[in-house]
Order: sequence, then C-alpha cells, then structure tokens
Amino acid sequence: MKLFAYEKTSDVSDAIKKTSNSDTAQQGAKIRFVAGGTTLLDLMKLSVETPDSLVDINRLPLDKIETTSDGGLKIGALVRNSDLANHPYVKSHFPVLSEALLSGASAQLRNMATTGGNLLQRTRCVYFRDTAYACNKREPGSGCPAIEGENRTLAILGTSDSCIATNPSDMNVALTALEATIVINGPGGERAVAIDDFYTLPGSTPHIENVLKPGDLITHVLVKAMPAGSKSVYLKLRDRASYEFALASAAVIVQVDAGKVSRARIALGGVGTKPWRAIEAEKSITGSAATPENFRKAAEEALRNAKPQSQNKFKIELSKRCLSHALKLATTS
Ligand SMILES: Cc1cc2nc3c(=O)[nH]c(=O)nc-3n(C[C@H](O)[C@H](O)[C@H](O)COP(=O)(O)OP(=O)(O)OC[C@H]3O[C@@H](n4cnc5c(N)ncnc54)[C@H](O)[C@@H]3O)c2cc1C
Ligand code: SF4
Repeated sequence: MKLFAYEKTSDVSDAIKKTSNSDTAQQGAKIRFVAGGTTLLDLMKLSVETPDSLVDINRLPLDKIETTSDGGLKIGALVRNSDLANHPYVKSHFPVLSEALLSGASAQLRNMATTGGNLLQRTRCVYFRDTAYACNKREPGSGCPAIEGENRTLAILGTSDSCIATNPSDMNVALTALEATIVINGPGGERAVAIDDFYTLPGSTPHIENVLKPGDLITHVLVKAMPAGSKSVYLKLRDRASYEFALASAAVIVQVDAGKVSRARIALGGVGTKPWRAIEAEKSITGSAATPENFRKAAEEALRNAKPQSQNKFKIELSKRCLSHALKLATTS
C-alpha cells in the first residue's frame, strides 16, 4: 500500500480548498475526501486507488437528517447508512429507502458507510479490483478483460465496448426512484444535480463516473415527499440472503386509483452501469390496470434494450421477474 498524507478538517470551505488543486475530481484523483472509508480504504489496500493525500471530512457538520417543509428529506452527506435506514420518519415515509439501505452490506459496514460515500462507491468488477489485470476504468485505454471473461455479475444496460461494470449500490437505486437531488458545493459555489444526471454512462471514458469537478464536495441529498397514497418496495435478488450485492433489484413507487396505476417511479439495480431509471416501464404501467400481466409488460419494456454478456443472460429474466414481483408487492401491500 502506498504511503499517503492525512489531514482532518471541520470546515466545508477548507475541505473544498484542500482538494480543489487536485488533478481531477474523479476517482483516481491524488487528493481525496475520505468519509466512512469502506470503499476508499479497501481500494487503497488493493493499490487500485493510490491517492497522495486524504482529507478526512468526518468532522464536517453534514451529519443531520432533516425534514423539509413539504414533507421531504434533507440528508447530510455524512449521515451513516444505518442512521438513515433506521430513522423513524424515513422508515414510515420513505420505506423504499430504508429497505434498500438495510439490504446492503452488513450492520458494521452500514454503521461506517455514509450517504456521500455510498453515492460514490465503485464497481465490484473483479478485474477493476485486481491490478494484475488490464481495466479501462482503472487505467484508461488498457482494455476490458470482463467482456471476454468473468462477467456474470456485470451490467446488461448502459454498457459500452469499453466497460460493462455494474453500479453496485442499493441506496442509489431507491434514490433514483425517489428522483433525489444531489447538492454539491465546490470552488464555483453550490449547485444541485438530479440523481439521473449525476452519473455518466461509461461510453469511451469509463474512468469518468459522475459530474463532479475538482474540489466538489457532496453536502447533502434532497428527496421530495412521495405523493399521498403512494406505496413503495425495494426488492433485491442475490446469490445469498445477506451481505451480498444485487444480481437484480427494483425500487418501485406506485399509486393505484380504482385498480389502475396512476403514477409509477421505477429504478433497477444490479443490471445497469448506473442506477437505472426505467422510464419505459413507468410509461407502460401508468394508466394500466394493476395486474400481473401488465406488470410483466412493464418489465419487458424495462429490459427491451438489455445487452447480455457471455455469462449474464440470466439477468434479463431475473430482472424482469424482480420488477414484476416488486410491482405486485407494492400494489397489494
Ligand atoms: C464487504 C462489503 C459489502 C458491501 N455490500 C454492499 C451492498 O450490498 N450494497 C451496497 O449498496 N453497498 C455495499 N457496500 C458498499 C458500501 O455501502 C460503501 O462502501 C459505502 O457506502 C461507502 O461509503 P463511505 O462513507 O465508507 O465512503 P468512502 O470510502 O469514505 O468514500 C468513497 C468515495 O466517495 C468519496 N466521498 C466520500 N464522501 C464524499 C463527499 N461528501 N463528497 C465528495 N466525495 C465524497 C471519497 O473520496 C471516495 O472516492 C459494501 C461494502 C463492502 C466493503
Ligand atoms: S468492465 Fe469496466 S471495470 Fe470491469 S474490467 Fe472492464 S473496464 Fe474494468
């Protein structure tokens, strides 16, 4: 493991100043924020991430969960995953978020993991995590051995010839269905970015994963209240029942009036190179009767453009069943 400098800060402006001279804001930058450390330190031990300097942001005043005047949430970037998942208002008003968080990692990890860090967690692609192999995400232009190799757990939506890595987060899938907004403070001031615009597709630059610029600090996440009468579900399918990443997951938020779905927000996990908003599925189910046949039709729409790799064709059917079942659970609960 490479030696690195370490300093703490308790001031947002100071944190931004300390990292704004970094070469790049993307993963791979030489000066990095560290929050819970459960992604970054892991990857530093594997020499996948090799920053020169860490700025510890755990003392910044960004650890609050607040309710907004419209019944929504303002979630500080340093709120721990366990605190967010178990917050009474989150459990009662945003069950999809609580369920997604509780399905992730282990209790110990959730106690350390933060909201900001979870948004920026990196792929579990085995080649990315092993410096003995080439990897376009780790070393641009070096190649993608996953396309011809171990790709069972990798993505089927949003892939490119350069990278097929899955975004592994559960929380991000729920936040995508909730149409959350990421608030960023940086050298140019504060800006808000819709979560769907925050992540970038791999294209020919898979090392660029989001819109952050040098010095940008995620300060909080805003979530609007779910419309009255909405039901939500997060369903995660994986190789074992706990402490495992999703092979397929679905976050659904639906309103049903007189047996028909009047509003739907749907996001898929475990299958996309970013948390996958399933707009086509939303359009398909909205205005239709809440029946298993129509849930299946919506799932077919969601996966219409899926492109499987040699080992993960099964994910297409798995993801369809996951979404159909999540819609059934949400409309019958
Ligand atoms: C064994 C294991 C199993 C796991 N299983 C799951 C799972 O099933 N589901 C799941 O969703 N996740 C899972 N995780 C991932 C875990 O949720 C993430 O590691 C965690 O959320 C990252 O948060 P952190 O605060 O520790 O991030 P850190 O490691 O501190 O930081 C991660 C990245 O975010 C940057 N960063 C952190 N905070 C900010 C900020 N405020 N502004 C700008 N940049 C910031 C850092 O510079 C770094 O690049 C697992 C992790 C492990 C180790
Ligand atoms: S899928 Fe992406 S992360 Fe995995 S080896 Fe290919 S380029 Fe690297």
